[in-house]
Parts: sequence; C-alpha cells; structure tokens
Amino acid sequence: MTYPNRTVTLILVLLIASIFFETYESRVHKSIKRNELIENFKRLFAPTSEKSFTTWFGNVITPQYIFRPNSLDDLKDIVKNAKINGKKIRCAGRGHSWTSLSNTKDYLVIVNNLSNVTEVTKTDTYGWTITALAGTQIKTMEQALLKNNPPLAFKTMPAPDFFSASGIIAVAAHGGVTAAPSASDLVVKLQMVSGDGELQEFSNEKDPVEFNAAKLNLGEF
Ligand SMILES: Cc1cc2nc3c(=O)[nH]c(=O)nc-3n(C[C@H](O)[C@H](O)[C@H](O)COP(=O)(O)OP(=O)(O)OC[C@H]3O[C@@H](n4cnc5c(N)ncnc54)[C@H](O)[C@@H]3O)c2cc1C
Repeated sequence: MTYPNRTVTLILVLLIASIFFETYESRVHKSIKRNELIENFKRLFAPTSEKSFTTWFGNVITPQYIFRPNSLDDLKDIVKNAKINGKKIRCAGRGHSWTSLSNTKDYLVIVNNLSNVTEVTKTDTYGWTITALAGTQIKTMEQALLKNNPPLAFKTMPAPDFFSASGIIAVAAHGGVTAAPSASDLVVKLQMVSGDGELQEFSNEKDPVEFNAAKLNLGEF
C-alpha cells in the first residue's frame, strides 16, 4: 500500500478495558446465594456459551465465563457483575499476543464487537487524531484515515492489519519503520471502565504517570 505524505502522528483511542481487583466488599459478596447470582445475569449483560478461547500461539484459556460486549453499557454491566461476584477480568482482542496475558480463571472479555471509528479530526493540541473503540481493527482505522480529506496514514503499524486497537496499544506493538513510535506512543487520550464500573479518562494533561501506565498496560492495569 502506498501511504499519503500526511501522517497521523497521534491517535486518540477510546480504549475500553476493565480489571477488577478483589476488595473487601467483593469478598463479602462472594457469599451471595446462587439464585441471586443467576438473577444478576438476567438483569445484567449475559456471558456467551463459549467454554474456551484459543490464542494464535495455542494457549487455551478456560475462564468461568466469556463475554463479548456490544456497547459501553454492556461492558459496565460485566464489571458490575464481576464486582458483585468477586471476580477478576482479563481482556482479549484478536488473541495474537505471544504471551499468556489474557489468561484467567474468572471472566474473559473479548472486545472485538466494540468496533467503530467515531471521529477523524484535526485538533489544535495534537494535530490530526483518530478516535476508535477498543476492538477496532487496524485496517478499519486505516480505511477511515485514507477516506479523510486530506488522506492520512499512521507513521507505522504492525504488519497484520486485523489486530485490535486495544491489543496493539496494550503491548506497544510496532511496525518495521526504524525510530517510529510504537502504537501506545501514538495515543493522546484513552478511556477505560475501571473496577467501579465508571468510565475514566487518561491523558498526559490529567496525569502523565497514570497515562503511561494505562497505555502500555499489558492487559493488567
Ligand atoms: C503472526 C503475528 C504477527 C505479528 N506481527 C507483529 C508486528 O508486526 N509488530 C508487533 O509489534 N507485534 C506483532 N505481533 C504481536 C501482536 O501484534 C501483538 O500481540 C498484538 O497485541 C496483537 O493484537 P491483538 O488484537 O491480537 O491483541 P491480544 O493478543 O488479543 O491482546 C494483547 C494484550 O492486550 C490486552 N488487551 C486487549 N484488549 C484489551 C482491552 N480492551 N483492554 C485492556 N487490555 C486489553 C490483552 O489482555 C493482552 O494482554 C504479531 C503476532 C503474530 C501472531
């Protein structure tokens, strides 16, 4: 593919992720009755019937439940469920990481249905930016950039273009261009659903230390 001259130096990604760390409150909730738990699943977003998830490397993850949220509200429901039932959450995109970072015995949240480019715009602070949901594939973002007037491109990206935005940011994936930034270096702002089920925003302006940890998070933040 021939890339246009103008490059998107910064990417604005809506990263939807959530990790719940066990708290005193969750331990209390563990004593919740089974019937009450089933009620919670009726009321809140339900898991899929999948029993396992196999990564590209062949790691077979067998969590208690696999979720595939379709919206931010679904994701918040999953986190609330985890909180009620004292469970931890790990995430996955396209499952092409060589590591076992998505491994969990509790809840696995696969974000591929959270796929959309919501905006390509020029900002005073960052220049051209693209905003996308966590599960958006690289090729979907590249198509949106090419359709823009003027056409745009990332400085560099990993070769397989089906990887998810959140997957490449979490592991700081890189392309083949020497001295080009990694995917997580391109992020100027991101949003995560935190353990309390609320949407949190991270940026350099708000808190550079937290922002750095949120970007290259290895699915552990
Ligand atoms: C054939 C092949 C070619 C590759 N080529 C390259 C390359 O050119 N350059 C390169 O740098 N790497 C490369 N890799 C590695 C790959 O780019 C990374 O592993 C990348 O993360 C894959 O994206 P994914 O969507 O599959 O992420 P996944 O493997 O699904 O997830 C990666 C990590 O991100 C976390 N995560 C995913 N989504 C979220 C979320 N929403 N919230 C919080 N955490 C989340 C997961 O927990 C996990 O820790 C390659 C791997 C393969 C198998």
